Amino acid sequence: MSNKEIIAGVAAGVLLFLMLQGVNILPIVFLLGLIGIVYYVNFGRQPINSVSFASAERSICTISFDDIGGQEVAKNELREALEFIKNSEHMKLLGIRPLKGILLSGPPGTGKTLLAKAAAQYTDSVFLSASGSEFVEMYVGVGAQRVRKLFEQARKAAKHLNKSSAVIFIDEIEVLGGARGQNNGHQEHDQTLNELLVQMDGISSAEEIKVLVIGATNRIDMLDSALLRPGRFDRLVKVDLPDKKGRMHILKLHTRNKPLASDVSIDTLSKDTFGFSGAQLESVTNEAAIIAMREGSDKICSNHFRGAIEKVMMGEKLDRLPSKEEKRRIAIHESGHALISELKLPGSVASVNVASRSSALGYVRQTQENDMYLYTYDYLKSRISVALAGVLAEELVLGNKSTGGSGDFKYASDIAKQIVYSGMSGLGIISADDIPKDQLHSAIVSILREIEIDTREMLLKYIRDLNQIAELLLDKETISGEELRIVLRKANSSECA
Ligand code: ATP
Repeated sequence: MSNKEIIAGVAAGVLLFLMLQGVNILPIVFLLGLIGIVYYVNFGRQPINSVSFASAERSICTISFDDIGGQEVAKNELREALEFIKNSEHMKLLGIRPLKGILLSGPPGTGKTLLAKAAAQYTDSVFLSASGSEFVEMYVGVGAQRVRKLFEQARKAAKHLNKSSAVIFIDEIEVLGGARGQNNGHQEHDQTLNELLVQMDGISSAEEIKVLVIGATNRIDMLDSALLRPGRFDRLVKVDLPDKKGRMHILKLHTRNKPLASDVSIDTLSKDTFGFSGAQLESVTNEAAIIAMREGSDKICSNHFRGAIEKVMMGEKLDRLPSKEEKRRIAIHESGHALISELKLPGSVASVNVASRSSALGYVRQTQENDMYLYTYDYLKSRISVALAGVLAEELVLGNKSTGGSGDFKYASDIAKQIVYSGMSGLGIISADDIPKDQLHSAIVSILREIEIDTREMLLKYIRDLNQIAELLLDKETISGEELRIVLRKANSSECA
């Protein structure tokens, strides 16, 4: 029986006794109720998901580094850091202080939580996790108390499970560990952060249970510098979006348990998912299986994957139907993008669509053979040309523009700005911080004008192909890159004949 139960029993007995003595107990009951509510709001809620030993049993991780795709650099760095825990006796002999914290930094969905779980598995530690927001409270002292409790629970859970170490994972650590003195209600925030620092300082190699804190953030710039100093988060591990090899690895891991048709190529899928995070790739494999199930297929085919990629990128298909004229305009706009994309960067179109989805009325999905980390002037100009081609196609075929190109213009001017900042514009090498706004603006406009003229000429030259693609698109709603290339090849060969 817990202390709480004993107290509740005694209180009920006393109340019953008073009632039998003819005392009016209503005000006392009311007062006790009020105290109960205040206690519950402040201290009663257990924010940490591993408070009881029952859940501590579940806190033994089965995820290993082999279950994480790509991220080879992050995995190696993490493994190297974890040797401090695995070989702690050796470290102690050499007088090396224990590693207290590792910070994982990178975009959402790249596998930071998985890495922390794998770290717990690798070091045979218990794993407790919490999110930074779980420590945010209005009342001063509550967050700090939760931090304290989390460390206590980690040690208790490790003892209970006969482990010699515990990994505490704090996701969104910037919420708890943001710079001090800057938050609304900063007294509570500062106390919570101070408590985390105190707890981390208290970790020592002489302890029976070794505790390692792994924090995850995608806003490392927001963290208080005290957290980053040596002796706190000693190691910073960058967890980036996966490259092509990493995407292949992740896709392979998430299709392990799925029946794939023979037309599915993981290599092609990894090309088509440039810029996707691990979480998005997992979602693609799951969505593809759902589409296959809806279609009553017992295998997942490449067209199911195509639909899944589009859903993950552009959102769910909408019932909203544009008018006939609007649909034609959308088809011409998208055909403009697709045509110029194929002409400037052959093989770059993965699909062209005029089916409305939550984030676009129509879109061209592009693919690229290899991941690129540097862009040349010509490549950037081609990208601007593709972006401008939608509205220019509308203007050439329908005689006027629409608002459908505002996003494209923003994208095109961002690239033009990149050209200026990289010293590739007529201004030559400039200091990005010091260039006057009007000078920057005219440099951007001059780049855009030149490319606009060139793109318009190109569209005029291929106007028959443009109309043909638009007709096909209106008919089929979606055409693949391969179908588009067949149309263009046919048009070319009939011109030659
Ligand atoms: P956030 O920053 O939003 O908390 P995160 O970086 O912690 O995200 P995880 O929670 O580790 O990301 O990943 C979410 C899911 O995405 C995982 O459960 C897994 O299915 C998938 N995933 C992400 N990255 C990988 C990867 N590298 N290998 C395999 N699966 C991955």
